[in-house]
Amino acid sequence: MDNSSDFDKLANLQRPHKDMINIMPLQTGSILTAAARRALVEFGDGYSVCDFCQGRLAGIANPPVNKFVEQMLPEFLGCDHAVLTYGARDGIFMVLHAMTKPGDVVVVDANRHYSTAVAAERAGIELVPVPRSGHPDYIVDVEAYAELIRERKPAVVLLTYPDGKYGNLADAARVGEIAEAAGVPYLINGAYAVGRMPVRMDALHADFLVGSGHKSMASAGPSGVLGLKTKWRDVVLRLSAESKKKEVECLGCTLRGVPLATLMASFPEVSARVQRWDEQVAKAQRFSAAMEQMGFSQLGEKPHRHDLMAFETPGFYEISQRVRERGYFLYKELKERGIWGVQPGQTRALKMSTFAATTEELDTVLCAFRDILAKYS
Ligand SMILES: *Cc1c(COP(=O)(O)O)cnc(C)c1O
Repeated sequence: MDNSSDFDKLANLQRPHKDMINIMPLQTGSILTAAARRALVEFGDGYSVCDFCQGRLAGIANPPVNKFVEQMLPEFLGCDHAVLTYGARDGIFMVLHAMTKPGDVVVVDANRHYSTAVAAERAGIELVPVPRSGHPDYIVDVEAYAELIRERKPAVVLLTYPDGKYGNLADAARVGEIAEAAGVPYLINGAYAVGRMPVRMDALHADFLVGSGHKSMASAGPSGVLGLKTKWRDVVLRLSAESKKKEVECLGCTLRGVPLATLMASFPEVSARVQRWDEQVAKAQRFSAAMEQMGFSQLGEKPHRHDLMAFETPGFYEISQRVRERGYFLYKELKERGIWGVQPGQTRALKMSTFAATTEELDTVLCAFRDILAKYS
């Protein structure tokens, strides 16, 4: 069998996105900083952070994992202890697995991510959803947590903050007050918050806060962070009976190279950028207003308070019904105009993020949408 042309492809991997304006929600918060790009090469080899390890990942002094995990992350997250994970879903699974037993109930917002459902399935627990309003705003009524907590006696309550479909920011502090009053531990999924906007576990009365390195903290990933209160440390971070320096829920050590080196190298810029969140919100609101002027309608909360937004775009869908390329025309037209992140085939509704693009670049995106509508009208 001759694999040489397939092997050539593997050995020359490329992406078509270079120098384009990126509006893909998954990617806008994870574009590497210059410092992370240097760390990527320096720490490219496997187990590269382990040169001076004495058996505990968070104990490594060179590179300064210890300072990062034991001091900087807790300050940043507003928590007592921080742990490195492989991503938001892994943090969620760790907490659910450690804090529940099979058959337990966890109350979650109806906008929860699919990975929360998968984590619950793996942990053998039942998710009970707090309902949301329907189309077009999909708002979760946080007061409804109280009644479900009374009725279902959950082991944990969870809020997705913001959710990954509409970018809605439910009142996380209010959920915290409700959970605290009921004595139920409270987990916030901040995959789209931690590293983009200011978010502190203590201010939101939460017991756990999860973030995603490769979604929102400019890390190559897979990487994530989990903040927790001291009182849960021995439950979620219990040590192995066999290997006394290793945490069971982490299977010993989590991040061991590029995911961690890039997370750490980007951290100074990431902690500075969350302080400029107001600018991000202004950019998102301006973009949303311009989209609505074009005849598109923004789903989710209005005025919007996050860079992640979904729009219904019937004008593009109508075009897709009568052109040869069908739904692919939009991807193609945008690519020709240097715009990356609308999935091939998508036209009916578009999810996008204004986080990485400048105001000028967003104007280019808006102009492109206008041009494309005019071209096919
Ligand atoms: C992306 C996303 C996740 C998963 O994040 P990973 O770090 O890849 O596990 C979880 N929840 C929400 C709301 C997300 O948007």
